[in-house]
Amino acid sequence: MKNLWFILISLIIVGCTTPAPQATPLNDESMLLSVLWTQTSAEYQALAHQAYNLAHLRLDASLTRPHSKPLAIIADIDETVLNNTFYNAKEILVKQHYPDDFYAWIDSARGLAIPGALKFTTYAASKGVTIFYVTNRRTRGAEGTIRNLRKLGFPNADSAHVLMKTNTSSKEPRRQRIMADYDVVLLLGDNLVDFIDAGKASVAERSALVDEHRDDFGNRFIILPNPMHGSWKKALYNFKTNLTPEDIRKQYLSHLQTF
Ligand SMILES: [Mg+2]
Repeated sequence: MKNLWFILISLIIVGCTTPAPQATPLNDESMLLSVLWTQTSAEYQALAHQAYNLAHLRLDASLTRPHSKPLAIIADIDETVLNNTFYNAKEILVKQHYPDDFYAWIDSARGLAIPGALKFTTYAASKGVTIFYVTNRRTRGAEGTIRNLRKLGFPNADSAHVLMKTNTSSKEPRRQRIMADYDVVLLLGDNLVDFIDAGKASVAERSALVDEHRDDFGNRFIILPNPMHGSWKKALYNFKTNLTPEDIRKQYLSHLQTF
């Protein structure tokens, strides 16, 4: 009995003095909840379906109107038709070397279809509408991108309709080229630059651009949610490069509005 008390007291002392285990540091803690929201929340899926259901309604309305040119839809790829959250999830845990590791991910062709995207684009193609994919993936990822889209069954998944980034990040010249030959009835994207030539606009300028185009959203522009990354995030630190994580954090905090 005496020994038992000794063991119990010893265990209590050890329990009180052993430091709590340290949480394993993550490579990028700031991405954790945004990736989890995108990967797990029913709300994310509902918003994606909502976007594509609205696109379907707007397309049907367009089909009833006369057009002088063949119809087309311009869709962004990442987080608009393809889900790349596996790449972003890995970044939370380990440091990845962009762009090399991103292109390895692209070449794996393992992106999944965003909810509603395949059904909608297939429907549009069945109505004779051409889908153009305008992406800022670079040309080195063209083969893997097309292979991924084809594997999932997306229409127009070929080099004539998948327009990669070449000499400029702006999607406007590519949009204009398509618009020369087609009546573009819808633009689909998750980033302001998928709709408007917003470039490196500041937070305030981006807000003003959306205000200017407020009637286009939900009509000709169909936007999907992406809390993980995009121009909205880069605008928080003025698109600067070579900032330390601490510098970026300071910039993030400088935009926080409280009371
Ligand atoms: Mg995108």
